[in-house]
Amino acid sequence: MTAKDPAVVKFCEVHGETDAEALIVRLCRELVDECSTEQGPSPLNVLGSVRSVRDCRSEHIAIGTGCSGLLVPKNGGYEVVVNADEPEERQWFSFAHEIVHTFFREAYPNIAQPSPEEEYLCDVGAAELTMPLERFRKEMEGQALTLGLIDELHEEFRVSFEAAGRRALHAADEAACLFIAALARTKDQDLKNVGDPILRLVSWKASQTWPDERSYKNMPIDDDCIIGESFSNLDCIFRRLLYARSD
Ligand SMILES: [Zn+2]
Repeated sequence: MTAKDPAVVKFCEVHGETDAEALIVRLCRELVDECSTEQGPSPLNVLGSVRSVRDCRSEHIAIGTGCSGLLVPKNGGYEVVVNADEPEERQWFSFAHEIVHTFFREAYPNIAQPSPEEEYLCDVGAAELTMPLERFRKEMEGQALTLGLIDELHEEFRVSFEAAGRRALHAADEAACLFIAALARTKDQDLKNVGDPILRLVSWKASQTWPDERSYKNMPIDDDCIIGESFSNLDCIFRRLLYARSD
């Protein structure tokens, strides 16, 4: 990946590298190695302190900013603020994401709004900090790649189910794909405000050996295929839960 954003270009220059993504993964692995752990979530407080992040606070961030976290310079170091309105696992990932921003601020300090390129690289780095690949692979070893395993990984690493799923597919050797479906309309339907939402694939993550390179974006799901059936059954479970609660 050749960098275009000046902050990312400078970051590569400072480290004498050309591939920004490979570089951020390497730096995050080196950071994890400073205090690696064999169990439970990564010690982000310790990893943050190595990067001069002295504190992480969970606070309400104004609605409409779409902001999950902020890196605030303070006394020659930083403070991180994560959005208290988001789920705890999301806040954990945001903390890691903000720690990764410090690598870019070190190379290119004064910036009002990081570019989408830098934001993407911070997500790549945050995945490495919260779910170090080597340890993640070890946890998957000898186990079948199932939703049950992803559920265990999400608990172990304190990340969302979807983040654990994406990481599992990234780490998997077998040909597999994780599909995320939701009731949705197409962009065009939304623009024209026509049509009812139906079950569609909204995102997916394929393993490296998954043979099909097509885009599945917005693909409608049949009720009687396995994804449609799981969705309907989940709906039944929720209805049952609601029924049980209303008793
Ligand atoms: Zn960011």
